[in-house]
Amino acid sequence: MPFRCQACVTMVTSLQAICESCGGFVRYEESDEQRLVDAVSGDPSAALPTFGADLYMGEGETPLVELDRLDLAPTVYGKLDSLNPTCSFKDRGSALLVSAVTDPETTWKGIVVASTGNTAPSVAAYAARSGTPCAVLVPTGTSLSKLAQVAAHGVPIYTVDGTFSDCFQFAQRVSSDRILNATAVYSANPFVASANRTVAFELVAELGAAPDWVTVPVGAGPLLGGTHAGFAELYEAGIIETLPRMLCVQVDGCHPIVRAIDRDESVRPWSGEIKTEVGAIADPLRGYVADGEETRRAVVESDGTGVALDDDTINEWTHRLAAQEGVYAEPASAASVAAVTADAVNPDDTVVALVTGHGLKEPEGDDIDTASVGDDSEALRTTLLG
Ligand SMILES: *Cc1c(COP(=O)(O)O)cnc(C)c1O
Ligand SMILES: [Zn+2]
Repeated sequence: MPFRCQACVTMVTSLQAICESCGGFVRYEESDEQRLVDAVSGDPSAALPTFGADLYMGEGETPLVELDRLDLAPTVYGKLDSLNPTCSFKDRGSALLVSAVTDPETTWKGIVVASTGNTAPSVAAYAARSGTPCAVLVPTGTSLSKLAQVAAHGVPIYTVDGTFSDCFQFAQRVSSDRILNATAVYSANPFVASANRTVAFELVAELGAAPDWVTVPVGAGPLLGGTHAGFAELYEAGIIETLPRMLCVQVDGCHPIVRAIDRDESVRPWSGEIKTEVGAIADPLRGYVADGEETRRAVVESDGTGVALDDDTINEWTHRLAAQEGVYAEPASAASVAAVTADAVNPDDTVVALVTGHGLKEPEGDDIDTASVGDDSEALRTTLLG
């Protein structure tokens, strides 16, 4: 099974997140060129490892739709990963990871997972489907609709009084050779970034070539890193002629990776206050900064760049995407569409924005405008048609 250390290029023999000889991150790489060809010909999972249980629920192969009603100069497509089984892209990694846990060849029997909100319901769903014991750790104050999903799957939820980083460190302390830490970061497990490579395979299958840019909302960044890795494999195999540039999107209130890209220096943890409501892409990386550095490396290797957006801009684009394109995305996902306006993107570029999570995840329940219809049906007719 070709899992390889990305730093010292050693093949690993036992499945682990971190290389025993150098501390680098481990990821699956497809060594069979035919499988890469199959992966861009409508079978993206051809270039994934296979494990015991088939837990398929429709993850991946999400729609690619043109977003041409937003008055953006470049040609922009939205990759609607919000339409995965639990309504976020996290299902790509969860399907592979939970399948690995069920495999008789691996030692894991249970799963612990820290989450900013979307990893938890995703892992919980696949754990339920496979009958694997699972526990979820979330920061106090996480969106109720996301926790309702976890509860529906019968998986226990534990809150941690702190940030996502504190949840992650707790999960690392619980994990062992029998309990897998399924947190969606490179340093916890080798499956998540490996599975996210399928985004690249699907985009090449759908567009017939690589786009100029892919804009990606980033916490620690295994979606960006995995997508870039998929393109790099295709590029090295001569299947695509150009390598797309990755645009790393974070929030003003916490953007350690974008800060490092801008200053051309290594990523440092975000030590200041975290000032944002867009929690899915506000990861301070405290205690696992190497994860952020791995993502920065992918951005630099792709000749990409980063952009940090304020909450008002992200919320405005969330509304525009829903009202003008009909695509209801959670704010963290709309950030990737907002990022298309970045200076580095040229008007004649083709851009894919990864729409990572569904709007129903974070509905604005309290301040929806309604008006009584009264009993004058003619008035409503006039409102509709003038
Ligand atoms: C997890 C998540 C992200 C960030 O992805 P990472 O690769 O884990 O940094 C972005 N958007 C949404 C909706 C997410 O759930
Ligand atoms: Zn190594």
